[in-house]
Amino acid sequence: MRCPKCGHDNPPDTLFCEECDWRLDVGYRAPKKRNPMAFAVIALVVGVVSVALGFVDGAAIGGVVVGALGLVLGSYSVNLPRYLQDSNKGVCMGLAGVGMILSVFGFILGLMVYAGVF
Ligand SMILES: [Zn+2]
Repeated sequence: MRCPKCGHDNPPDTLFCEECDWRLDVGYRAPKKRNPMAFAVIALVVGVVSVALGFVDGAAIGGVVVGALGLVLGSYSVNLPRYLQDSNKGVCMGLAGVGMILSVFGFILGLMVYAGVF
């Protein structure tokens, strides 16, 4: 029986693969390559950048643009660990959440600075 994980050809009536110990009656799906932590950290960085840009008089519109981007990225990153059953779920969701809040802040701040409120 061919192993669904490593492809090793095992003798019939084997339950565990001789090569990798995978249970042969259980289908194997390769884990997804996406890394929720990387997405969360990027969302956080984008959020920080949007707030930083929002404070700069000439670059405030950049804060609006980056803030909008961070909001999309953040909302995506917040949900990602839930689908992937990542062990760092809480940390990932926390980082992405903070990135999202910062993005909203940067977006509004940039908009107000750009409009000349400050
Ligand atoms: Zn195997």
